[in-house]
Amino acid sequence: MNSLATDLAAGEERPATASFDHEGWTRITATGVFRTLADTNLSQADRIRETATRMKAFGRAGENPGLLFAVATHLASTITAVTRFGSDDLKEELVPRLVTGESIGAHAITEATAGSDASAMLATAVVDDADGSVILQGHKIFITNAPIATHIVVYARTYRSGEDQGISAYVVDTTWSGVVTTAKYPTASLPDSPIGEVDLENVKVPQTWRLGGEGAGLQILDFVMKREIVYAFSADLGRIERRIDDCVAFANSRQQFNSRLATYQSVSFTIAEMYIDCLAGTAMINEILRRIAENRDITKEVAAAKVVISDANLKTAVDASQILGGKGVQAGSDSVQAVLDALAGPIYSGTNRIQKTRIAAMLGLLTDG
Ligand SMILES: Cc1cc2nc3c(=O)[nH]c(=O)nc-3n(C[C@H](O)[C@H](O)[C@H](O)COP(=O)(O)OP(=O)(O)OC[C@H]3O[C@@H](n4cnc5c(N)ncnc54)[C@H](O)[C@@H]3O)c2cc1C
Repeated sequence: MNSLATDLAAGEERPATASFDHEGWTRITATGVFRTLADTNLSQADRIRETATRMKAFGRAGENPGLLFAVATHLASTITAVTRFGSDDLKEELVPRLVTGESIGAHAITEATAGSDASAMLATAVVDDADGSVILQGHKIFITNAPIATHIVVYARTYRSGEDQGISAYVVDTTWSGVVTTAKYPTASLPDSPIGEVDLENVKVPQTWRLGGEGAGLQILDFVMKREIVYAFSADLGRIERRIDDCVAFANSRQQFNSRLATYQSVSFTIAEMYIDCLAGTAMINEILRRIAENRDITKEVAAAKVVISDANLKTAVDASQILGGKGVQAGSDSVQAVLDALAGPIYSGTNRIQKTRIAAMLGLLTDG
């Protein structure tokens, strides 16, 4: 018999089956989306807008959701973090390789006992006063792109002369001594997004490979996660638009009781509701892009958009499978995989429950009892 407890225990032992669409990665790279995000001839706001627009187009074109999550992770975790917070040396060394897709980025925050509460992380970075380098130790889990990454932004608590300096962000080359990445946690959701663990044992990181100031890690994380949400969930919006088209075509062509399914309001209204959800999500992303261009805070807006779009992706995926009838629940069908893929949206990039907690705090609700 199965139970949640046996599921959790089995999760430790399941073999890794991470697959990665290298051809897809090359195809996405060839569109110039990585280069655009790093293009210093464009304003910050234009880079983000253009990147979000392309991610939506990839979703609409039917690119694999797992591949697109790997792309969103690369864009936010590493291209954004290095171009915005990296030293000149680091930018010179890494950006040319990140934009050609030759280098693949990831970010490692989550640990076994630090999930939603990133500040509880146990990974450490001990500073060598002589040259400012650090020695990293830690174990990170659930890291998107870990099995394929060439560079990982590792978040760790920094200690200088034994004193806690707060969490900082360091870029690590996965070929360095002491860095071990393992493919693990094959997920039913986004199976084509390689995910795994990162082990760091006495990894020496030069000072110039730290992002931003010492102790600025959580601010950097907040900055990049907001961008990850814009890119990953723009792709979801494209996916929902495509789903609506598919449902309209099916409802117009399938006949039952001598009428097209489209003539039954319970079907047509379901598809109309998909459109309403998609339009709401699109308006929210547009509002975020407008606020970025005006240099305004986007904390509440990003949290709200993430909740609305990830919930809409899941709801519309379930609704689409119901509209298809028996075909919609066939094992291995696209509609079943779409439901499974959509299950992860409310979890990654900060769970929806945590996003609502953030909104509540921003609204001034006194949430500490
Ligand atoms: C597909 C996928 C990709 C991922 N990629 C990465 C990655 O690239 N890098 C990385 O570092 N991590 C990654 N993660 C990990 C992800 O960030 C964590 O799963 C997430 O932060 C939640 O942590 P947790 O799984 O430990 O759940 P927990 O934090 O244990 O939470 C369990 C449940 O309790 C709820 N909960 C927890 N605290 C509160 C609270 N204060 N108030 C209300 N509800 C609460 C949560 O919302 C959740 O529903 C990924 C996860 C997935 C599924």
